[in-house]
Amino acid sequence: MHKSGMSPRPQSRCWLEIDLNALRWNWAHIRSCCAKDCEPMAVVKCNGYGLGAVRIAQELEKTGCSIFAVADLGEALELRQAGIRSPLFLLSPIGPSDAAIAAEENVIVPVADATHGRALSAAASVRGLRLRTHIKLDVGLTRLGIPIPGREAEAADEVRSILSLPGLSNEGIFTHISGMMEPEMDYLNIRQAELFRGFVARLGEAGRHLKKHCASSLLFLLHPEYHMDYVRLTSVLLGIQKGGESLSLRGVAAMKARLLQVKHVPKGTNIGYWMSYVAPRDMKIGIAGVGYGDGLVRSLMSGAEMSVCGKRVPVVGKLSMTFAAIDITSVPEAKVGDVVTVFGSGNDCPTVWDYADLYGGHPCEVLTMLKDRIPKKYIQQE
Ligand SMILES: *Cc1c(COP(=O)(O)O)cnc(C)c1O
Repeated sequence: MHKSGMSPRPQSRCWLEIDLNALRWNWAHIRSCCAKDCEPMAVVKCNGYGLGAVRIAQELEKTGCSIFAVADLGEALELRQAGIRSPLFLLSPIGPSDAAIAAEENVIVPVADATHGRALSAAASVRGLRLRTHIKLDVGLTRLGIPIPGREAEAADEVRSILSLPGLSNEGIFTHISGMMEPEMDYLNIRQAELFRGFVARLGEAGRHLKKHCASSLLFLLHPEYHMDYVRLTSVLLGIQKGGESLSLRGVAAMKARLLQVKHVPKGTNIGYWMSYVAPRDMKIGIAGVGYGDGLVRSLMSGAEMSVCGKRVPVVGKLSMTFAAIDITSVPEAKVGDVVTVFGSGNDCPTVWDYADLYGGHPCEVLTMLKDRIPKKYIQQE
């Protein structure tokens, strides 16, 4: 133990900065874009896209979010243990043996099809429970849910049979669309959302009381007409959804590293494993404390940039597990200890999209690939 009674905190080689002010700002903007009877559901699966599900949920719960979605029951219990009291919505199905704990913890679960519904119903009935459920439809993503295209009448019978099962409190019906990003493909988003809307209408009286939802961030931004009762959102909340600029949403996450050494190398010097880069001229090289062992993609780094002292600079040579070499010849003021931004917000550093585009990746993937052990710094100004 340190003299002060606290363990000394070592200076971080790299860290993830999470701007809670930006998160609250985004929430407020998003809320104002939803009709009064539409509730935004914050999706904090996969540890909140790597940013810390507990902290994000705590912040959003204080700000007025009253329902959260997570990937599975393990994630739901983590939020409960951290004191999150709002209803939790599961995106993946539970088995019958977990019905009791889901009911106890006020977790709403999806019903994937009639067989699954019957199993949950039996488990809940035998214990005298009422399990809160939403029925999941598959309108073309071919993921979880009752397949709809080409078998609407059968599917409607299947839904009605689930609605009549004892032990289940069927409160909602939902789907998830394929999420076509290109404007010329948007008609496919609309086709799937319309299939959902039409199908639910077809259920008539049986479906009237059900909460309906189909929009994640893309549909939320593009098509307010499909907001319905809930919008399920992460990317817009984190400011990483393309098109989010139109709402002036702010980036929440930034990946940073420390400049650990600075050296001047003559023309012809080999830089990095496999002598992957040869200095074409005399150069000033900075060694940043971040690498593929932290979750960056080793193969993508040719063409990658980081920024230091407000200037973008190229990464040179192959990325190491915990180091990256950057060409800081154009930044005479850069010195050991300076902060290097791998990606973040603002014009003077690469964004997470710039980074993802280097290898045809996606920002959600970039964030969830970052290692959980990277220290997280939550920024909050009152
Ligand atoms: C992850 C997920 C979301 C949130 O997606 P974003 O595009 O990041 O808003 C919404 N719905 C479902 C079913 C999901 O799996």
